[in-house]
Amino acid sequence: MPSEITDLSRMCLHTMTTRHWDLNECIRQYTARGIRNITIWRNVLEGQDLEAVRRKLDESGMKVVSLCRGGFFAAASKNKRENAIAENMGAIREAERIGAPLLVLVCGADPGQPLETSREQIFEGIMEILPAAMEAGVKLAIEPLHPMYAGDRSAINTLKQATDMALKTRSPYVGVTIDVYHTWWDPELKPEIARCGKEGRIFAFHVCDWKLPVLDLLNDRGLMGDGCIPVPLIRSWVEQTGFTGPVEVEIFSERYWAADQHQFLDQIINAYLTHT
Ligand code: ZN
Repeated sequence: MPSEITDLSRMCLHTMTTRHWDLNECIRQYTARGIRNITIWRNVLEGQDLEAVRRKLDESGMKVVSLCRGGFFAAASKNKRENAIAENMGAIREAERIGAPLLVLVCGADPGQPLETSREQIFEGIMEILPAAMEAGVKLAIEPLHPMYAGDRSAINTLKQATDMALKTRSPYVGVTIDVYHTWWDPELKPEIARCGKEGRIFAFHVCDWKLPVLDLLNDRGLMGDGCIPVPLIRSWVEQTGFTGPVEVEIFSERYWAADQHQFLDQIINAYLTHT
């Protein structure tokens, strides 16, 4: 049976979940409620002095779990692929400067070419940025996305594909992010989580819920307990592999973003404690 989460020590919140708050406000509000782990989205770092950001995080006792996000390696245009590499190099430097040990990769897809071609370009892209990531001490986590995003966001759509690609790099710096929103439907999920864990490649674990009906492909995620994903069960599979890392709440929702964000944060904590 799934174990229960009874405190917030392992809870991590993505800054994108409380999209209307800048980084200072996220740190203030999260710490005020006892949340000690944060995953930072790059948009909140724009225009910031990264040394000051790092000092602020240290002073607040906040642990940075990861930086979101790099990737988008796949493109029919060579120019775009080169830009993506430069963008990822920038993300690795940012991660290093703020003390984030992990960069999450949304790998990309281009509707103008076959998924197979996109996957080759993704592998090449990861191999190209890998030396810089190792140099910076920043690990890379391939996040498989739900197949509804295969057209333009990611040609990596199952946990199996993500684990296979991580293993193909032959580097301990490349692993996988398991997000319940993207993977819950997969009939091979349980054995693939076991395999990914056995290979030591589960680098991150993201939670939210799949509410019905889904009104928007990107920004209509539910709070844990709102929908049909058995989050505690999937978490138990992840933890059976020995994973003891943070449980990261990542919710994009126009509906929740339109509500009072303080109330939303209270709801998130409640959903974390009762449905995760
Ligand atoms: Zn995610």
